[in-house]
Amino acid sequence: MASTLVLLGPPGSGKGTQAARLGEDLGFRQLATGDLLREARAQGTQLGVRAADYMDRGELVPDDVILETVCDAIARADDEPIVLDGFPRSEAQADALAGALERQGRDVTAAILIDVPDEVVVERISGRGQGRSDDNPDTVRERLRVYHDETEPLVAYYDDRGLLRRVDGAQAPDAVYEQVRRSAEER
Ligand code: ADP
Repeated sequence: MASTLVLLGPPGSGKGTQAARLGEDLGFRQLATGDLLREARAQGTQLGVRAADYMDRGELVPDDVILETVCDAIARADDEPIVLDGFPRSEAQADALAGALERQGRDVTAAILIDVPDEVVVERISGRGQGRSDDNPDTVRERLRVYHDETEPLVAYYDDRGLLRRVDGAQAPDAVYEQVRRSAEER
């Protein structure tokens, strides 16, 4: 069965960078919900229009907006290995993911937490200047609050299922990737 990895970690923890490396190095198909939503906005699709205000406030977009998109993407992945970046972000989404994967005859093989303290997040995002409409200080604070309230409980959720791997995300990207790769290959 092909691997399905979940990357957990606060905004700015480097999930996108690490997912891209898993793609290049080990052939993982990347499924990044933030990127999907930003593309949808740029194209002006119904999904993008519905997501825009939530994203700019730093809130989660409602599950009915995101779930269908994620389930479709999982169904299209066939038996390729997948790395999920930015999903699931709540226990409800984690339960929905488990169901969607089961329908494809797969399940989560590991959840890798890229652990980074809040101060580092704030510093990194204020220096990243990508011009993302949600990278202003107020929205970053809100995204961190939402992470701690809604997403961090998934650390215990996956730990309870024996799937959690912790990585120190405050290191340089190469050192982080070394640990991520090891976690991805562990069975
Ligand atoms: P970051 O992890 O840096 O906050 P993302 O690119 O993953 O950024 O997400 C940007 C925004 O997209 C989030 O603040 C949220 O509004 C929306 N989003 C992304 N993934 C999800 C998801 N799984 N559920 C709900 N909203 C999401």
